[in-house]
Amino acid sequence: PPIPYEETRRILEIHLKEIWYTLRSLEDHIPAQNFTQLQDIYRVLRSHVINLRANDGYELFRQKETTELANLVQGRIKLLQNPVNCDTARKAVCKLNKPCGFGCQIHHVGYCLIHAYATGRTLILETEFWKYDSAGWNHVFLPVSDTCTDSGKNQPQHADVIEIPYVDSITTLPNHLPVSIPADICRRLERVHGEPHIWWVGQFIRYLLRLQPSFQNEIKEYVEKLRFQSPTVGIHVRRTDKITYEASFHSLEEYMVHAREYFDIQEKVRGQIIRNVFIASDDPAVISEAKTNYSKPGWRILGSMEVARTAKSERYGLSGLIGVLKDVFVLAECDFLICTFSSQICRLAYELVQAKHADASGRFVSLDSIYYYGGGNSVIEVAVIAHTPRDPQEIELRLMDNIHVDGNHWNGMSKGMNLRTYKRGFYPSYKTRNLVQRVAFPKAKWWLG
Ligand code: GDP
Repeated sequence: PPIPYEETRRILEIHLKEIWYTLRSLEDHIPAQNFTQLQDIYRVLRSHVINLRANDGYELFRQKETTELANLVQGRIKLLQNPVNCDTARKAVCKLNKPCGFGCQIHHVGYCLIHAYATGRTLILETEFWKYDSAGWNHVFLPVSDTCTDSGKNQPQHADVIEIPYVDSITTLPNHLPVSIPADICRRLERVHGEPHIWWVGQFIRYLLRLQPSFQNEIKEYVEKLRFQSPTVGIHVRRTDKITYEASFHSLEEYMVHAREYFDIQEKVRGQIIRNVFIASDDPAVISEAKTNYSKPGWRILGSMEVARTAKSERYGLSGLIGVLKDVFVLAECDFLICTFSSQICRLAYELVQAKHADASGRFVSLDSIYYYGGGNSVIEVAVIAHTPRDPQEIELRLMDNIHVDGNHWNGMSKGMNLRTYKRGFYPSYKTRNLVQRVAFPKAKWWLG
């Protein structure tokens, strides 16, 4: 499809969502009858945009192009990880056992693999004393390399081996880390994907999380037992320790509002559907609350208390690992995700969603943060519509101003710092767009031979 067409179609969808966020924030100030009518018009418009995409004749191209790009990137990672001569290959060693949860550890290894890719080094993953599985990474996942697993650290004649530090301890971040994307595929990628930086991360996560056949079967059986079917909305509710220090509490109803909205729009397109909702949580009480309060006619509430229980009782052992994998993989199968992007588990699932569909951008609602990569480069937006502040809390935007985003308040307004004026404050979210950070990966030409 022509780039201006694809961009316009995506912007149309984003701006319609902004209308909804703005409208929701005004609900108490608009007479109920008018509010309902406006909401219905919004849903009709969203259904038109879905139909537009389905019928514009480009969907096959989108799918083909995304598959080709994925094959290209997967092939390159495989090549990097299986050098012709392991003894002489340049290597980067990454220690798996970062002292944090599963999502955080996978994002740590993901950062290592992206760094290895960008610098043309084979990643050697050291997995001793892994708190999730004492038998090591290769027990559950396919090895990151079939042919090159020795760092060669003890062979000084081949000493081109570096150890990758935790990203939190780096003072000057390399600009090839997420949320950047590589310049050599950016044109193709931006054409077919609305969130190319998340798709890019998703490719590395997908490579890493290739399961060993026995665990793959276990997940498959779990999905079959759930009687998973499309369309399913995935809800991830992160509670327990996260609420104490890192995130706010959100009631289940706050998530369900968005699930209803998703299905109301889908029904305008497809007619009446079964409303499948899969709930994942580290708190089993959330699953039982969902099943008790929301199993109404027309709704199927899926989720496993047993799996959630492993997160509470045996979090850092093999059963906790299998539990979180079941939840992450089922969330990744869902058509739409509702969660808090402050949680690494939810961001992990959303990254995997990108690897499953052609342009899966926008298939989420986050109740808190925008998408980011922990420890990576900051998310920057660019002003595409100028803004004159209406009160002292707001900031001015001139066309092409870059904004360092603090957060989206999901009420039509975002907060951030204008990098031209260094003023921090609010601005209407629809007036900016994510700035795709395209970076040349000069050392990553190893795939050319
Ligand atoms: P974050 O704390 O949510 O940002 O993510 P981390 O990866 O740092 O740690 C979260 C840990 O909580 C995971 O490793 C899991 O053990 C557990 N957890 C969180 N959410 C879920 C869930 O939905 N299901 C299961 N089974 N475990 C979860």
